[in-house]
Amino acid sequence: MTGEKIQLLGMTGEELERFVLEDLRESRFRAKQIRQWLDRGADIEGMTNLSAPLRARLSEIAVANPVRILESFRSKIDDTEKFLYALPDGNLIEGVLMRYHHGDTLCVSTQVGCRMGCAFCASTLEGRVRDLTAGEILGQVAAVNRRVQAEDPGRRVHNIVLMGSGEPLDNYDNVVKFLRLVNDPEGLNISLRNISLSTCGLVPRMYDFAKEGLPVTLSLSLHAPNDEIRRKIMPVAHAYPMGDVLAACRRYIEVTGRRVIFEYALIKDLNSDLRCAEELARRLRGMQCHVNLIPLNDVKERHLEAPDRRTVEAFLKRLELKHISATVRREMGADIEGACGQLRRKVLDSEK
Ligand code: SAH
Repeated sequence: MTGEKIQLLGMTGEELERFVLEDLRESRFRAKQIRQWLDRGADIEGMTNLSAPLRARLSEIAVANPVRILESFRSKIDDTEKFLYALPDGNLIEGVLMRYHHGDTLCVSTQVGCRMGCAFCASTLEGRVRDLTAGEILGQVAAVNRRVQAEDPGRRVHNIVLMGSGEPLDNYDNVVKFLRLVNDPEGLNISLRNISLSTCGLVPRMYDFAKEGLPVTLSLSLHAPNDEIRRKIMPVAHAYPMGDVLAACRRYIEVTGRRVIFEYALIKDLNSDLRCAEELARRLRGMQCHVNLIPLNDVKERHLEAPDRRTVEAFLKRLELKHISATVRREMGADIEGACGQLRRKVLDSEK
């Protein structure tokens, strides 16, 4: 069963060395060789400076990258590419590559499914199946990076957003390990400043995360100007009131010196009138932050939809008037089910 195989890509240098010495009973420099191959995205077969018997032995107990791109769909509108990945145990996850001027940005998943239960989100409809390992999170980046470079050696995955399925802070240890691995100068070497971690606001974990010394951008899924509205769409708001969430954000800003991004999905007749904009501006006043307005991606399983464009524009204008930095997120990949969880849902539905 590949499900139980060791995932080489998720190992730190030290772990790989220990594995080589103790499990393979090979000398230390093999670890270095394997590492170099992993960084180039090779699979075990391709590690040609290892002897054939060693490769065979290695293949029996380990995989290089546990993530395999099963299918990909490329937008004809803006080149956005959606990936469906298979994991060793047969689970499916998905990701999106957005080709921006400031570099290719990959949206990465941290769990199979999600247990946060947000009313508007397709990833959570069937709950959480399991956490991803650090190797499975890193594997998404490695697999796509390899594709990108095969197409154009001058390009690479430049930015990462942890905004795929799953709640990153609900899979804390694996996510933190992933962040350290992906930033490894001997590995993919992606700058932490080019990485955004999005959370629905698990307050104690936010304080823990601030202490890790990882200068990633924190995105906070707020989606409401007060607890009353927030509780209608986000069960997590029952556990952590907005005041506590905002206090944790302030702490993050203080410790890291980085502004926080608030994600605010505009939902018709729920959180998008001007009174909501006013209240939101009041709550965020004086904070080093930016508001990302997202007209809701309709999820057909839920009966929630986006407001009309004028409402979106008016909301934005009102925030600006109150000196809150804000933008409306541009829709990418409209023709390829770009939004979270939509593709996996479609595949699961068609299997039923
Ligand atoms: N669990 C994390 C990250 C995953 S979702 C979090 O909650 O932040 C990434 C972003 O997409 C979150 O802000 C989420 O609230 C938002 N989102 C989910 N479904 C959406 C939809 N149908 N329309 C617009 N935004 C959505």
